[in-house]
Order: sequence, then structure tokens, then C-alpha cells
Amino acid sequence: MNLLILLAALLISSQASAWGKEGHELVCAIAEENLTEKAADFVRQTLALGEFLDGNTKNDLASLCTWADKAKYGKYTSTYEAHFLNVPADKNKIDFGRDCAALDCIAVAIQRNLSYLNSPAGSKREKSRKAAALRFLGHFVGDIHQPLHVSNREDWGGNKIRLTWFGEKTNLHKMWDVNLLEKAGLNHPGSLEFLLNQTVDDDQHNVLKWMEESFALSRKYAYLNVENQTLESGDNVGQAYFERAKPIIIQQLTLAGHRLAYLLNALADGSLDTNFLID
Ligand SMILES: [Zn+2]
Repeated sequence: MNLLILLAALLISSQASAWGKEGHELVCAIAEENLTEKAADFVRQTLALGEFLDGNTKNDLASLCTWADKAKYGKYTSTYEAHFLNVPADKNKIDFGRDCAALDCIAVAIQRNLSYLNSPAGSKREKSRKAAALRFLGHFVGDIHQPLHVSNREDWGGNKIRLTWFGEKTNLHKMWDVNLLEKAGLNHPGSLEFLLNQTVDDDQHNVLKWMEESFALSRKYAYLNVENQTLESGDNVGQAYFERAKPIIIQQLTLAGHRLAYLLNALADGSLDTNFLID
């Protein structure tokens, strides 16, 4: 019985790990470097509320941006679906009524945590919730930019597609979380400066559009080999796929960091519309 539970946990754990530690920390570190003074204060004060959540009052956001992946197996199992959005493989558009209704999805999770962050916290419970909301937000804005977190339901966001990557067994989801970043030498803090030097030409402030972008990237690149055939279990993936994916990874990590900063800056100066999920 215990073995079954362990196996189930292992299966689940590969469903939605997202970017891995390096990617999540990079996203939050980029955001921290792009905060206004007001937002940096807001982040510091909110991180300090971790005292009420679990006693962790570390004041760098980057180190807390992987917390949500651990939390979903512990006290916060109900946040599991908040890490992704799955679309049926035969559908070409996200439909909230179909894909994000009975179960939460990443867009709802981002909206909810933004509204917690946007509310005053008086009671201990509210303070604890606000501390959690910042950690969740930092993590989910990272996740929403990982193409396989907005992808196909049937293969669990690529987790069921088992591949060989430069001779190593992996799966499509893990490749985008971890393997591609490792191969590209992307890690925190080693790559922070490199990513901060990337030019960002972005005026997209709509969370739903970020999700649509990831969905398009997953369908157009992640699921296809360089001959544009759909990847299947047993396939080999190597240099050509890596070279096509690398600029996408760099772009998505960079955008995620800047967009997280945008949300925090707007929250701090009171200009954020947290009511974006109108579909
Ligand atoms: Zn996640």
C-alpha cells in the first residue's frame, strides 16, 4: 500500500514540476531586479508575513519561488491544478468553460493570488494568506510561461511522452522543465546577468494572452520534432530540437521575469486590474 502511494506520488510529481528550481529562481530574480522602489518595499513587507505562514521570513523572493511545488504535496494539495491548464489534444483553442471550470487552472490561481495581494491583511489568517499569495504568484507566473504548462490534457502536458534526450531517458515535460535549461547552461544565479541583458520588446500585460502564447508555443514547437512531426514515446531528441528550443526558453524565462515585475509594480502603486478573467 505504501509503495502504491509512493508510486502515485512519483507519477503526480512529474506532472507539474515546471521549470525546475533553476528556471523558477531565475524568473523571480529577474523580477526582483526590475521592481520599482515601492514594489520592492511591498515585496519585502509581504515576505516578512511569512512569519505567520511557516516562520520563513527570507527576504529574497527568488529562493521562495519553488515553494509552491513542495506545497502542493503537503498542506496545499488543493493547489495542484493551479500550476497548469490542459486543453484536449483535438482542440485548437483554450475554452475556460471546458478547461478551467470544475477544477482550477493557472489563470484562476494567478487572479486569486493577485487579489489576495491587493487586499489589506489585518488578521493572522490574512497575513499568512498574503505571504503564501506572493510565493504562489512568483511561481505561477513562471509556470504560465513554460509552454508545456498550457498544453495537452491526454498526455498530461507532455509527461506521458517518453523520449530519449542525448542518450538519456526523459519525457517531453521534463525536457522543457529541466533538460533544455541544463543543456543551455541556464542556472541561478549564474545566468541572471545574461538574462537581464536580453532585450525585451513586450507590452503584453494580459495574463490570458500569456497563456495563449504558451499554448501556441507548445503546439507549434514543443510537441513537434524539427521535421514538424508530432513527437511520440520512443522518439530520440537531440541537437536540432535543442537549437530550435533554446531561444524560446530564453525568451520565456525573460518575459516571465519582466511580467512578474510588471504585476508587482502595478500592485504596489495600486494600478493593477485584478479582474481580468472575464471570459
Ligand atoms: Zn509549478
